[in-house]
Amino acid sequence: MPFASLGLNEQLVQAINECGYTEPTPIQRQAIPVVLKGGDLLAGAQTGTGKTAGFGLPMLQRLGETDAKPHTNGRAPVRALVLTPTRELAAQVEDNLREYARHTPFRTLAVFGGVNINPQMKALGRKVDIVVATPGRLLDLVSQRALDLSRIEILVLDEADRMLDMGFIRDIRKILAMLPKKRQNLLFSATFSEEIKALSQDLLNNPAMIETAVRNATADTVEQAFYGVDKGRKRDLLSYLIGNNNWQQVLVFTRTKHGSNRLAKQLEQDGLPAMAIHGDKSQGARTRALKQFKDGELRVLVATDIAARGIDISELPHVVNFELPHVPADYVHRIGRTGRAGSSGRAISLVCHEEKPQFKAIEKLINKRYELEVQPGFEPGPEDRMMPAAKPAGNGRGRGGNGSPRQGAGRNGAGRSKPAAAAAPRSNKPSRPQRHARHDA
Ligand code: AMP
Repeated sequence: MPFASLGLNEQLVQAINECGYTEPTPIQRQAIPVVLKGGDLLAGAQTGTGKTAGFGLPMLQRLGETDAKPHTNGRAPVRALVLTPTRELAAQVEDNLREYARHTPFRTLAVFGGVNINPQMKALGRKVDIVVATPGRLLDLVSQRALDLSRIEILVLDEADRMLDMGFIRDIRKILAMLPKKRQNLLFSATFSEEIKALSQDLLNNPAMIETAVRNATADTVEQAFYGVDKGRKRDLLSYLIGNNNWQQVLVFTRTKHGSNRLAKQLEQDGLPAMAIHGDKSQGARTRALKQFKDGELRVLVATDIAARGIDISELPHVVNFELPHVPADYVHRIGRTGRAGSSGRAISLVCHEEKPQFKAIEKLINKRYELEVQPGFEPGPEDRMMPAAKPAGNGRGRGGNGSPRQGAGRNGAGRSKPAAAAAPRSNKPSRPQRHARHDA
């Protein structure tokens, strides 16, 4: 089905062709006609489904169908607002919208925190039709009178579930109060909690509802595997998997900022070029790491959930959950970074004994059952199996440094037959489990 048959005009179809898209994705097929008609929309779509074009293309077309209502001072108004949870996502959505708008007169601008506000204030002094923003910075700009939201015609809440998870609900409500009552509202969310349902009831007016994947399901194009492994051997297994399988572009998730820094350093020691991105890194450092990773110069990017939210790397082949997330829905978000827009990907999760409750919770959420796989040479040790299953994550702290008989017990020989790996299976160094012991702190 060609894009033009969805009712999009020539300028937009030309831009899509230039982006190299040949067929609309399922979310685009469903969302574009609804948005073109001007109605509200509640869409269940995870990152990677092509949702940005799903709302962006019809939004651009609608803006072209009516004239802007200028402010009383004659200034051209901002007409559409896209709210996103993270800086990276704001930048990425704006990048895409700019591409889609290239043959239209519309100008886009991304505004987000963590960088100097002055250039953003200056940019808002020029004509901007569509603002893509994180909530906090948007409110700062409004309070400094650099931005007026009273002429917004279309509002998009992108990754609304994540915005709520990140505690933005009060900011969102403040922003909603500044918008004109009559407007089109589009809400995108990968998961549907009670909170999201409540927000959509308040916000949306008789919305069309579309879902591209089963709620909370993971993209079909992602092959998922779960490896049972001792907590203290995860790093070795990760290096082994990357090296032995010759994975060239791997996004690795850790739970904590410290954990991501430490793991990136350790992977470097194992000869795997790696960098960490998380909330404590400057925006510049995050952008640079992401660029190197996208350009294929950096083999491993280690990220926390928040920093990685919305990272758009087309056809990202491998995502590894070094630790399972506490919130099962985060698993869906994490692996949404691979197998995007129809390309296939692999998601691998390393599961130690104390994470088995999270593993079960993920299985329940995605409604699929998995056997824990074991990589020869990395079999979980007996004392790990004996750990009480219900022990909350983090309580195993003392255990990692217990000098257990397993350490150096020579269980690892099997994998040594594969020396091509950056890190072949090997005995734990006595000091390493202690470092891992602090890991979840
Ligand atoms: P999104 O879910 O909007 O973040 O999009 C995910 C990725 O898919 C982005 O890299 C888009 O450029 C790409 N994409 C979006 N729509 C299509 C399409 N119809 N065909 C191929 N790629 C697409």
